[in-house]
Amino acid sequence: MSKKGNLVLYTGCSGVGKGTIMKQLLKRDPFIRLSVSNTTREPREGEVDGVHYNFISREDFIALADADGYIEHAEYCDNLYGTPKKQVEEMLADGFDVFLEIEVQGGLQVMEQFPDVLSIFILPPSMEELEKRLRGRGTEGEEVIQKRLREAEKELAVSPQYRYRVVNDTVERAANEVLAILEQHRSSCR
Ligand code: 5GP
Repeated sequence: MSKKGNLVLYTGCSGVGKGTIMKQLLKRDPFIRLSVSNTTREPREGEVDGVHYNFISREDFIALADADGYIEHAEYCDNLYGTPKKQVEEMLADGFDVFLEIEVQGGLQVMEQFPDVLSIFILPPSMEELEKRLRGRGTEGEEVIQKRLREAEKELAVSPQYRYRVVNDTVERAANEVLAILEQHRSSCR
């Protein structure tokens, strides 16, 4: 991958608040871009095709995977998710730091391909707090919540493999910490 910007692997369990932190990062740093993933999941209320995700059929997803069109892809809670190569390569070539907001199976694939990737894992203050946030979001039914909590425990077990772990106690503090990590990484790459 030809690159000018930095690739940033950004992972956190479902409900941890990584999307809210991401919004702050995008607002506060003009050199950050977020990769838009392809998914076979149904859109949630308010989600816009091409903005939050590219919502595509399983058939189209598999066709792009067969054509080697993804940096990584994975199945999570019965849906497929993947990072399209072309878009990320273009943003990196334009000098942006590109965040991949992805789960751990994809994260491990990225670490293997790019051993020097800046990897950041967003942790909940506790499992109790994570459950509270998942329920508070009100976007998933009980069965999906239970499934996501089980996934979260597995994901937390992988978190030590990430270079940095940031606790989302408050959005502002966590966003500050991520920006400081990124700034330090930028200076070390200059
Ligand atoms: P959600 O359904 O809540 O939007 O996402 C479920 C999980 O899939 C989250 O952990 C999210 O970060 C992850 N995810 C989103 N896009 C991708 C992707 O392109 N690849 C992988 N591996 N995971 C993704």
